[in-house]
Amino acid sequence: MVDANGHGAAYLDHAATTPLRPEAREALLAELGLVGNASSQHTSGRRARRVVEESRESIASALGVRAGDVVFTSGGTEADNLAVLGIYRARRAEDPRRIRVISSAVEHHAVLDPVDWLGRHEGADVSWLPVDDLGRVDLAWLKHELDEHGDEVAVVTVMWANNEIGTIQPVAEIAALCADRGIPFHSDAVQAVGTLPDDASVVDSLALSGHKFGAPVGVGALVLRRGITPWPLVHGGGQEREIRSGTLDVAGVAAMAAALGASIADLDERVARIARLRDDLVAQVSATVSDVTRNGDPSCALPGIAHLTFAGCEGDSLLLLLDAAGVECSRGSACSAGVPQPSHVLLAMGVPPVTARGSLRFSLGWTSTEDDVARLVEALPAVVARARRAGAGR
Ligand code: PLP
Repeated sequence: MVDANGHGAAYLDHAATTPLRPEAREALLAELGLVGNASSQHTSGRRARRVVEESRESIASALGVRAGDVVFTSGGTEADNLAVLGIYRARRAEDPRRIRVISSAVEHHAVLDPVDWLGRHEGADVSWLPVDDLGRVDLAWLKHELDEHGDEVAVVTVMWANNEIGTIQPVAEIAALCADRGIPFHSDAVQAVGTLPDDASVVDSLALSGHKFGAPVGVGALVLRRGITPWPLVHGGGQEREIRSGTLDVAGVAAMAAALGASIADLDERVARIARLRDDLVAQVSATVSDVTRNGDPSCALPGIAHLTFAGCEGDSLLLLLDAAGVECSRGSACSAGVPQPSHVLLAMGVPPVTARGSLRFSLGWTSTEDDVARLVEALPAVVARARRAGAGR
């Protein structure tokens, strides 16, 4: 299989970023060799525009939405910020009573932080939806909040699937509760698109990111349905229906369409294979190492994520020792790695801070093999024993 990291390590961090698909590489290289600003009127510009619009059509059809619903962005973080901040500002401008934002306690920082920003700087009242011990949002709590404060709600934002533990949220039920009350519902589907057979048309707004399904880093999209029009964050040339100005990344957009096409084409086979590998990983790790707990909802989760807690260990020590043994994984969200704090996701699920700190995320993707799992299982007993000795000495 592909040696995607270039130094032969077992790569178990696909949820952070997954290797470029050959189809995406081909589309990217073809476009990088050609000139043309998709807003230019001449032949080169019109050719570039055609590539963008064909890519938009292909992405929209993979997601079950209309081409006009797709707004290209620089990735998932920008798409989430545009949705949260932009929809809040537009809705509040329409009706000043709409000052409430409802979000879940387990969102990625790309949603958590703009929601928090609205609370601290723009007068929003934020309601954080609690989750149960498997990381699933409390629908009864949401319904009660909507019944009590429906007229004040500017936007509801709940992720499709969690990037740390893999739990899938009841998106269709949340969408129905919001639709009944005419409240826009945004979902961060960055971990879901390309892996789950999503029907993006059930939500009003949806964020996706190319590098999670085999496109290069730096391209993504916000899907906007039913006339939802966020206020722009970036002002300029008026591209993307004036919702997101900036010269379009033709090569990135073409590569993202190619990567999504490839992901849809092999979805069933790949998901079944990855889920089998993930189950093997969990079974073999549990058989080789004592006191391991799996986090997340085992019956409704992304196929590629195994999030495990190793009692008596520090996640950082485990991660570095595994890295030295040629196995690459993550403490959870790659974007918050390096900050030595227990994961907000595990804390929201009621996991005690000291337990939460001994957790690692192993994530599998399209290039994963049995060999990757075998290398983890071989390295882990010595690594855990060493991390436990270090923990006991503290
Ligand atoms: N949302 C989720 C759930 C993610 O996992 C990530 C990246 O890890 C993002 C948003 C941010 O996406 P991007 O890296 O494209 O900015």
